[in-house]
Amino acid sequence: MIKTYRDYTGDIQETCDVCVIGSGPGGGVIAKEVAERGFDAVLLEEGGHFTVNEWDGRPFRGLIDMYRSGGSTGTLGNPFISLTLGKCIGGTSTVNSATCFRTPGGVLKKWREELGLENMTEKTLDPYFERVEKIVNVTELPWDVLGNNANIVKRGCDKLGLTCRPLKHNVKDCKGCGPCQFGCQENAKQSVNVTYIPLADSYGARIYANCRAERIVIKNGAVRGVEAAAVDPKTNRNSFRMTVTSKIVVTSCGAMITPSFLKWSGLKNRHLGRHLQIHPAGRVVALMDETVEGWKGVSQGAYIDDFENEGIMMEGIMVHPSLLLAALPGVGREHKGMALKYNNLAVFGVMVHDETEGRVLKGRSPKRGGGVMATYFIRKTDSDKLKRGIAYLAKIFFAAGAKRVYTSISKMPVLYTPEDAVRLMKLRVRPNQIETMAFHPLGTCRMAADPKQGVVDRYGESFEVKNLYVADGSVIPSSLGVNPQITIMTLSNYVADGICARLGSM
Ligand SMILES: Cc1cc2nc3c(=O)[nH]c(=O)nc-3n(C[C@H](O)[C@H](O)[C@H](O)COP(=O)(O)OP(=O)(O)OC[C@H]3O[C@@H](n4cnc5c(N)ncnc54)[C@H](O)[C@@H]3O)c2cc1C
Ligand code: SF4
Repeated sequence: MIKTYRDYTGDIQETCDVCVIGSGPGGGVIAKEVAERGFDAVLLEEGGHFTVNEWDGRPFRGLIDMYRSGGSTGTLGNPFISLTLGKCIGGTSTVNSATCFRTPGGVLKKWREELGLENMTEKTLDPYFERVEKIVNVTELPWDVLGNNANIVKRGCDKLGLTCRPLKHNVKDCKGCGPCQFGCQENAKQSVNVTYIPLADSYGARIYANCRAERIVIKNGAVRGVEAAAVDPKTNRNSFRMTVTSKIVVTSCGAMITPSFLKWSGLKNRHLGRHLQIHPAGRVVALMDETVEGWKGVSQGAYIDDFENEGIMMEGIMVHPSLLLAALPGVGREHKGMALKYNNLAVFGVMVHDETEGRVLKGRSPKRGGGVMATYFIRKTDSDKLKRGIAYLAKIFFAAGAKRVYTSISKMPVLYTPEDAVRLMKLRVRPNQIETMAFHPLGTCRMAADPKQGVVDRYGESFEVKNLYVADGSVIPSSLGVNPQITIMTLSNYVADGICARLGSM
């Protein structure tokens, strides 16, 4: 049974083998794997526990209930980049778009060559990928479930000799109803909240939602447990105390929080919080003559990787009218006219395999509610990739018959012809002239063979504190160029094996 705030009536004391902090793809996998092998696990999650009964598919309710700070988190820099994070059982997987990719071979090679991670080979990781993909049911959906949005972009690609392919998703009986990012209405998305967490529960892990870890207790260079507090979801204030005594602690708060949490617990490694990579992304909207009804179909349906060697990836993304229309240019009558044409809008996204590195700062103490404080000053090379990706997509939309294309670049917000897309390609655009967003924070406690290069070793254990492990997006050593959840789950499963071996020898 997953306990939530209403189950707490007083202070709580727990003793276990492994205390996991955070229930996303990182923490959820660890809790299930160690519990399945007979070890005693306790999982703490700051956010609440939501099920299909509470979801109405509307962004407002979803943002307030399941996103950190109502979806207003981001990185400070040139420009501010919106970077939303889930805060609920299942972590960000509960609110993500269900797209699945394995770690590209070239990225694994880079980790081996630059960080000495010789274990990061396809041969070592393939059995882990297979295990994870089976549990979350990675599958390829038919074009009709991918929706018209994907079909239009495919048509444009076919005309230009490019390839638009269906994305793989972790879903079962997906109805293509659309609001994947605000709670799957059909319980079809096989996110961590409906796969790993119920499995962990069935193997005896004790799961506490609305429970914020405040500090890791460390004595003589080794972990002793965790201090935490129950959090009232209405006020975000601490109430009952919770003390966990454990042999091993695993921090899985996500790449935007884990480094700050570890700093507040006294860790000092110089790489903590550095090397933040986020896959900066942009959105392109096309006005079509035909009826698109883009909300019918899975919201992120197809992808184009023809520009991969330029560090550019394109993936579909249909957005709810309340979010999409607010981001389009125009005011008054003009804007109202556009709102009336929502049926005719098609949307696709661009994502950059970034070279820029940002930084997660110590920020506010978890005892005072924690939070996200990070900087990311996007390099011109990366913002140029974003601009080029937007221009390529505009060309694809014009080839598919678009009447107008909205770029999210303030210097050239609307394109009327394919020639405009060519002009945009040549235009000098400053980074802060592109509305940029991101969804994939990685790298802030990176894994490395040598303590001089990273925060955790090749098995996920901290170089500084014995029996302290990290398993989440923060250990992923670099930007991937593809969506990260399968990589995070796979490495977490690998880390879980090391933890079980350690517990076996204790
Ligand atoms: C809108 C959106 C769409 C996305 N779509 C995709 C996609 O289609 N495919 C894909 O691969 N990736 C996608 N992602 C990214 C993906 O979901 C994340 O990379 C992944 O969930 C990160 O896993 P994690 O375990 O590192 O962290 P998270 O999933 O963020 O989990 C961390 C958990 O720790 C909890 N926590 C934090 N601090 C504490 C504390 N002090 N005490 C207790 N608990 C704490 C948090 O509340 C959170 O629930 C998307 C992200 C977003 C925002
Ligand atoms: S399209 Fe609908 S059924 Fe499919 S994963 Fe998204 S919300 Fe769930």
